[in-house]
Amino acid sequence: LTLLGIETSCDDTAAAVVRAPAGGRPEILSSEVLGQTALHEAYGGVVPEIAARAHAERLDGVVAAALAQAGVGLEGIDAVAVTAGPGLIGGVLSGVMLARGLTAARGLPLVAVNHLAGHALTPRLTDGISFPYLMLLVSGGHCQFLLVKGADSFQRLGGTIDDAPGEAFDKTAKLLGLPQPGGPSVEAEAASGDPDRFRFPRPLLDREGCDMSFSGLKTALLRARDALVAEKGGITVQDRRDLCAGFQLAVTEVLATKTARALAAVADQRPTALAVAGGVAANRAIRARLETVCARFGLPFVAPPLRLCTDNAAMIAWAGIERLRLGLATPADFPARPRWPLDQAAPALLGSGR
Ligand code: ATP
Ligand code: FE
Repeated sequence: LTLLGIETSCDDTAAAVVRAPAGGRPEILSSEVLGQTALHEAYGGVVPEIAARAHAERLDGVVAAALAQAGVGLEGIDAVAVTAGPGLIGGVLSGVMLARGLTAARGLPLVAVNHLAGHALTPRLTDGISFPYLMLLVSGGHCQFLLVKGADSFQRLGGTIDDAPGEAFDKTAKLLGLPQPGGPSVEAEAASGDPDRFRFPRPLLDREGCDMSFSGLKTALLRARDALVAEKGGITVQDRRDLCAGFQLAVTEVLATKTARALAAVADQRPTALAVAGGVAANRAIRARLETVCARFGLPFVAPPLRLCTDNAAMIAWAGIERLRLGLATPADFPARPRWPLDQAAPALLGSGR
């Protein structure tokens, strides 16, 4: 099977071609990602109208580039997989409309993919791991534990009740005058900071279950910064490093503690691995701690390459392949969904529910 994947649910316009021979290792023939950071920079966040227009203007070109890079024409494509949600509806619709057009014109199957399922199934594309496995999705917009039981079977075990960790890294960077995206800049500062000088809260650790909270952290950080400013008129380079280190350690400990709890909760289902996805999974301190947790449970730690951990279309094409292998194509009139919890039923089975 060779699939074209399309992803337009946030601020990346992406298209990819993935080929998966029956029984063989899947191969990413191309994966084009055109970001929009510069377009939204001045507004301090993604502006839905600007994102939608940019996707509409750029998507044709990105798809053409993915096909060209793969050396495959549309005649070499067996189906088109497209993110149908969750996300910013204007962008999602751009992708869905193009996918409908392409498949209708060529009489090809269309596969609607949940963006989060794309992230959750990526470790099978990169590392070929077997179901079930525990996935920790940590990005700028998401933070949740999923037990991935099958290509269409996900059990959510808990997640953030407020901010996502990536968002917290980004806000921390902003508060401390560091460049965006905040994750890499805070990590770099933290590397030469003292993580024990400032003790930031680890919310919900005493509460049962796998829910997490990160919004109190930025308030605490803001307070610590302002206290330093009030005390001596500003913060030094070392203050900033120590603040970053303390912040990063707090996030790391929350994620590690809750990961251990999630692994314990699913132990009787015999997961094969802990896998991560999302931009925050790039953080070396967080990775190292999660590896330690895995070692304690005797499980492998799977972290796909960063370009496949962040938003991309190869994961959408792959999720499409997994769904097609289960016989799950999608009726042409399926809706685009701004909200779409993963543990809710996907669009109806081929030939039913219409
Ligand atoms: P989503 O895909 O969930 O809608 P998103 O597009 O913001 O959200 P990603 O592209 O997966 O998420 O990841 C971006 C986030 O990852 C940013 O918040 C960024 O600060 C964070 N991030 C990137 N590198 C690091 C790092 N080294 N340490 C911590 N966070 C990081
Ligand atoms: Fe994403």
